[in-house]
Amino acid sequence: MSDNLASGQDNLYRGYEVVIGLEVHTHLRTQSKLFSPAPVRYGDDPNVNTHPIDLALPGVLPVLNRSVIELAIRLGLATNSKINRRSVFSRKNYFYPDLPKGYQISQYDEPTVSDGWLEIEVPVAGDERGAMQKKRIGITRAHLEEDAGKSIHDTALAGTETLIDLNRAGVPLLEIVSEPDLRSAADASAYLKKLRAILRYIGVSDADMEKGQFRCDANVSLRRPGEELGTRTETKNLNSFAFVEAAIDAEIERQADLLDDGKPVVQATMSFDPASGRTAVMRLKENADDYRYFDDPDLLPLVIDDAEIEAVRASLPELPDAKRDRFESDHGLSRADATTLIASLALAQFFEDTVAIHPQPKAVANWIMRDVLQALRDKAVDIEDLALTPSQLASLVALVDSGRLTVTSGREVFALLLENGGDPEAIMRERNLEAVQDTGLIEELVKSVIADNPDSVTSYRGGDLKVLNFMMGKVMKATKGKASPAEVKSILERELRG
Ligand code: ADP
Ligand code: MG
Repeated sequence: MSDNLASGQDNLYRGYEVVIGLEVHTHLRTQSKLFSPAPVRYGDDPNVNTHPIDLALPGVLPVLNRSVIELAIRLGLATNSKINRRSVFSRKNYFYPDLPKGYQISQYDEPTVSDGWLEIEVPVAGDERGAMQKKRIGITRAHLEEDAGKSIHDTALAGTETLIDLNRAGVPLLEIVSEPDLRSAADASAYLKKLRAILRYIGVSDADMEKGQFRCDANVSLRRPGEELGTRTETKNLNSFAFVEAAIDAEIERQADLLDDGKPVVQATMSFDPASGRTAVMRLKENADDYRYFDDPDLLPLVIDDAEIEAVRASLPELPDAKRDRFESDHGLSRADATTLIASLALAQFFEDTVAIHPQPKAVANWIMRDVLQALRDKAVDIEDLALTPSQLASLVALVDSGRLTVTSGREVFALLLENGGDPEAIMRERNLEAVQDTGLIEELVKSVIADNPDSVTSYRGGDLKVLNFMMGKVMKATKGKASPAEVKSILERELRG
């Protein structure tokens, strides 16, 4: 994309201020659906997880799954929002093949959660030193609703016919709507990552984008600074962070082209094509009155009392920002390190469990950020899937810190622990990896390397310091890599000077 949009925080783009508001649909972590007892499961055969209620057979009535109320309250409290003591389920009427009732049960003007915010931290526009700034992003509301089924257009399976899978019909969702407070694709991405981290920390949603559990619609408009909000478009169903950023940047560019040519932006629902990197008008935007909202007569208003809210508040875990701040203050980590380690609750827990056994936070953090995260990327797994445990990592780091393992040998042990777990000390002994800490032995080896390489010694003493590396290599090889390089270097330098 041109003009470096993503890094242009609050910078004008071709003279326009960018305004973005996001609508996020996140699947709630429940056993069963919002109004039916059918299970919520992913990857099953089509239409096995359905109940007459999901199929809208005549005479069925919806029954609210009480467990979603706690989840909505959790999200509300974690985003500084109001928990409304009374909320109402409405019918949003539209015809769609994967919506058997002909309406979707959603919340409209009385949602369960409203008026909240969360904080993002993003780079300051144009700051070369990488300074960060905090921004508070308003959350207009978060409402409960049911998901629709899925239409499948697969010519190989069904020619020109459309197949319907209703496993997803009725899966509980929270739709979380932000204020138009975001100013760039980078802001949007930071907001989504923060929101997803919070949802996972508080156990409200697994928010797995690949499973369609966390989807985003991006509303984008442009205006000249100081003007009223411009006309927005809404790009639907973005299901990866990269697509959200690319779609927003493409839409900013498309709107700027229109406005520069003196043409209006027409309010529309857009789709994003990742292959071309472009947005295209899908349909002209419907308005709320097109949906003929009205309160669902089959459902009572949802009433929540203070005791329930306080019980939920008491059960909330430490949230990501608080954990990051505590990692900085208690463990003396940099903000960048703390931010990396709190990325998921499991990773943060792994770090703290390791530090509890080997209280050297910086050393442990380095091993996790370098070696553990690399392993997770290479294997494309989660930390829970590793054979390595916190106590094993703690023993390993302790062995390296004490000098009994060099970093190189430590890595060798680490690789074995990753595959099968085990006791680092036992592995070290079995593989004969214990470091040569015998200074006398290192001195002997240094002396024999010096004796065998008189030319190098002459070069070194003549000022060619590069030969030091060559000689160090020889000594290290003689110790089979088991001596501390720092110690070898200092002995070698001393002997060469002498
Ligand atoms: P709808 O269902 O019609 O899309 P919602 O109220 O659910 O309406 O969502 C509107 C979203 O659009 C919110 O995230 C809001 O912040 C955002 N929005 C509203 N006006 C603008 C605008 N002019 N430019 C960009 N985003 C906007
Ligand atoms: Mg919308």
